[in-house]
Amino acid sequence: MNPENLYTSLYKYYGPQGWWPLTMNSCYNIEKDISGYHKKNPLIKHNSTDRFEIITGAILTQNTSWKNVEICIKNLKNNGIITAEALINGEEENIKAIIKSSGYYNQKYKKLKLVLNYLKDNDLVNNDNNVFIPDRGDLLQIWGIGEETADSILLYGYNKPSFVIDTYTQRITERLIPDAKLKKYKEYKKYFEDNIEKNIVLYNEYHALIVKHSIEVCRKTPLCIECFLKESCSYYG
Ligand code: SF4
Repeated sequence: MNPENLYTSLYKYYGPQGWWPLTMNSCYNIEKDISGYHKKNPLIKHNSTDRFEIITGAILTQNTSWKNVEICIKNLKNNGIITAEALINGEEENIKAIIKSSGYYNQKYKKLKLVLNYLKDNDLVNNDNNVFIPDRGDLLQIWGIGEETADSILLYGYNKPSFVIDTYTQRITERLIPDAKLKKYKEYKKYFEDNIEKNIVLYNEYHALIVKHSIEVCRKTPLCIECFLKESCSYYG
């Protein structure tokens, strides 16, 4: 397979995913499912609450399942912490208790404050017109922000076509496109960005579809018998 036909196959099979799930959004009249996914509106103009939720989720999801992050997001919302200012100025122990279920909560609290302060200082959180976009290099300079988190913030928070690589992407590429022979994050990123159309909806859906396929069947121990791609997969063949 190649990156283009892999995307086409995944999209045809699973359909649109509608990331990022936005549970706090109250400003835009978009159709969402119960978890906040907006499959009929892949590209929406984010307001500051959306952006706060995406940035927060991108950090909280490091080394934990999305289920745990959902609990934290719900807790933040229930405590009225839906802006960068509310989190930055909130009582430290209270915020840590709210995000505890995501694990490593001391570190994650520190990361959240550093990122939100950087974005706030540069007027990049509450900028509802979405004109300014944080610099990837600046994000990577922030303690605890790696490439995957930076690209998730740029892609899903700021609608910037910056392809996200995660362990799922690496595993699927190794199995379905073994000839690519990629190793480092930047090699994967370049490979995908060089071989698919630079399109924000496509980037958004592609990463979400890779996650979907990895959770459904292409797990660490894959369920190849149930996989619709098995005839095209060198790992299975
Ligand atoms: S056949 Fe197996 S290894 Fe290949 S993509 Fe499907 S689940 Fe993954």
